[in-house]
Amino acid sequence: MSGRMPMVSVRLWPMAAAWLGLGLVLAACILPGPAGAVELGEARYRELKRVLVLHSFGREFLPWSEFARSIKADLETQSPWPLDIQEHTLLSARFNNPGPEEPFVAYLRSLYENRPPDIVISIGAPAGKFAQKYREQLFPNAPMVMTAVEQRLVDHAGLTDNDTVVSIRNDFQASFRSILQVLPDTNTIVVVLGASPLEKFWLDEVKRNAKVLESKVSFEWYAGLAFEEILKRASRLPPHSVLFWGLMSVDGTGVTHEGDTALRRLRAVANAPIFSYQDAFFGGETVGGPMHSTAETSRKTVSAVIRLLAGEKPVDVRTEPIPLASPRYDWREMQRWGISASNLPPDSEILFREPSVWERYRWQMLMITSVFLVQAGLISGLLHERRRRRVAEVESRQRLAELAHANRYSAVGELTTSIAHELNQPLGAILTNAETAELMLKADFPDIGEVRQILADIRRDDHRASEVIRRLRSVLKKTPFEIKGIELNDTVREAIDLVKAIALGRRITLTYLPTLANLHVKGDPVQLQQVVLNVIINAMDAISDTDAGKREVNVASVRAGDHAEIRVTDTGAGILASDLANVFNPFFTTKPQGMGMGLAIARTIVEAHHGTIAAASQAAGGALFTIRLPIAR
Ligand code: ADP
Repeated sequence: MSGRMPMVSVRLWPMAAAWLGLGLVLAACILPGPAGAVELGEARYRELKRVLVLHSFGREFLPWSEFARSIKADLETQSPWPLDIQEHTLLSARFNNPGPEEPFVAYLRSLYENRPPDIVISIGAPAGKFAQKYREQLFPNAPMVMTAVEQRLVDHAGLTDNDTVVSIRNDFQASFRSILQVLPDTNTIVVVLGASPLEKFWLDEVKRNAKVLESKVSFEWYAGLAFEEILKRASRLPPHSVLFWGLMSVDGTGVTHEGDTALRRLRAVANAPIFSYQDAFFGGETVGGPMHSTAETSRKTVSAVIRLLAGEKPVDVRTEPIPLASPRYDWREMQRWGISASNLPPDSEILFREPSVWERYRWQMLMITSVFLVQAGLISGLLHERRRRRVAEVESRQRLAELAHANRYSAVGELTTSIAHELNQPLGAILTNAETAELMLKADFPDIGEVRQILADIRRDDHRASEVIRRLRSVLKKTPFEIKGIELNDTVREAIDLVKAIALGRRITLTYLPTLANLHVKGDPVQLQQVVLNVIINAMDAISDTDAGKREVNVASVRAGDHAEIRVTDTGAGILASDLANVFNPFFTTKPQGMGMGLAIARTIVEAHHGTIAAASQAAGGALFTIRLPIAR
C-alpha cells in the first residue's frame, strides 16, 4: 500500500495544478480588480435616459425644427447615456381659438404616468407655456429645459426649481439698423408675419421696437394676410424697399406653412432683398445680418440637459438670454442685390462666397503655368543653343577659310614654276616687240602701221600677264567663306589654266573634257577651285618623273541627275587598297615633303557645300577622284 501512495500523488499533482490555474483565471474575471473598477464606474452610463421633446407648431416648422434637429443631433453625440427620445407636437399653438387641451394632456398622462421621462425639453414659446401649465399633472418630478424661447415669452413667475430656461433675446432695432447700414438707400421695410397668436404677439412687439426708427425709414406690415396676397404685393414693391421675414407659421387664412417652402416662394417672386433674424432662414433665401445662432442655442441647451441628467439641480443650471450673433451675410445675395462688402459691419462674416477661378482651378492653373514656364525655359534654352551653334558654325567656316588659305599658300610653291612659265612667255614677247618697235622708229621713214600692230601685240601680251597675276591673286586671296552662284565648268577651267604649265614641265598631258550642260552650283569659287587644284596636283604628283609609260591626267565634268560631278583620273601609281580609307584623314601622306592636309581640307570644303568627294582605284591603274556637288535650283 505504502508502495502505491507516491504513485497516486504523482498523478494527482498535475490535476491539482490545472484546477488551481482555472481558479485563478475565474478569480481574475469575477473579483473587482483595477479593470473591474472602471467597468463599475461606467455602469451608471448604461442606464437608458428617456427624453421627452415637446414641439410648438409641429416638428417641421422653422425656425424651431432647426433648433430641435440641432439639439437632438448634439445630444446624441454628447450624451454618455443611451437615449430614448420621444417627441410630441402641440398643434393647438397654430390656432387662434384652440379647442380644449385636456384630451392631449390626458393622452400624455396616459403615456408618462407610470414611466415619467428623465427630462422634458420644450421647444419654442407655446410648448414652454403648455409644459409650465401642465407639468404638475404630467411629470411633476422630471426636470425641464425650456429652450428656443424668447425671454419676453417666459412666464418667470410660473417657473419652479425644477425648470431651466435657455432663452434667446430678439433685438429688432439692431436688425433694422443693420439693414439701413447695409443698404443705406432703403426707405421702406416690409415686415412679414403670420396670424397665429404667437405671431400676433410679435407683430405688436416689432411695431413697438420699430417706432424709434420711423423718422429714418417707413414700415409696412404684411401681417395677418393670405400668403398669396403677400406674394403678389412683394413682387411689386417700389424701389428701395426690403422685406423682413419675421414668421410665417399660419397665414391670415389659417393655412400653415411648414419648412422653408413659403420663404422660398417669396424669394422667387420678390423684387426686393429679404432679411431675417434667424439663421434657420439663412443660406439661400435671405441676405443675412445679425441672427440667432441655432448652433449656439443648441450647445447651451445640450449642456444644460446633460448636467440635469447627471443629477444637478435645475435651479443651479442657469443661462443668460442668448443675444443675436455677429452678423453673417450670404455672398450670393449680396451679388444679386449689389450690396458692397464695404457697407457691412466690421465684425461681419461673408459666407457662400463662390470660389474665384483662381481658387477653383488653383492646381490646374499652377500646373499649366509651370508647364508654360518649363516650355519657355526649354525654348529659350534651345534658341540659345541654336545661336551658339550658328556662332560656332560661322567660326568653324572662318577657321576653314583660314586653313584653306594657308594650304593654298603652301600649294603656291608648286605653282611657282607654272606661274613663272606663264609670265615669262608674255613678258618675253613684250620685250622682243618693244625692241623691234624701237628699231623701227629709228628708221628715217618708220612704218607707223607696223609699229601700231606691234604696240597692239604688246598690249595683248600685257593682258595675258596680268590675267596670270589676277588668277594667282584670286587663289591667294584671303576671303571669308562666301556663297554665290557659280558655273563649275569655269572654276575647273581656271584651275587647269593655273597648273597647265606644271603639267608641261613634267611632260604630263593634262586634258579637260567639260560637259556641255550647265553646271550651276552654289558655293565659294575660291575654295572650290582649291579643291580641284589639289586633286589635279595630287594626280600629277602620283606620276613619277621616271615613269616612262603613259603620263596623263584627265579631268572631266558631267551632270549626273541633280548633281554636278568632276572626275579626275591619272595614270600614276594608284592608291593602295589599305590607304584608300585614309587619304582624306588629316596628316595622312605618303610624300616625303607632304603635309597630308590637302585632301582633308578638300573634303571639309566639299561637305560644307553639301557635296561629297571620293577616291577610288582604277582597274587599269591610277586613281580616280570624284567630286559631287548639288546643282543649284
Ligand atoms: P599631301 O599631298 O601633302 O600628301 P594630300 O592630303 O593632298 O596631302 O594627299 C594625301 C595622300 O593621298 C597623298 O600623300 C597620297 O598618298 C594620296 N594621294 C592623293 N592623291 C593621289 C593620287 N592621285 N594617286 C595616288 N595617291 C594619291
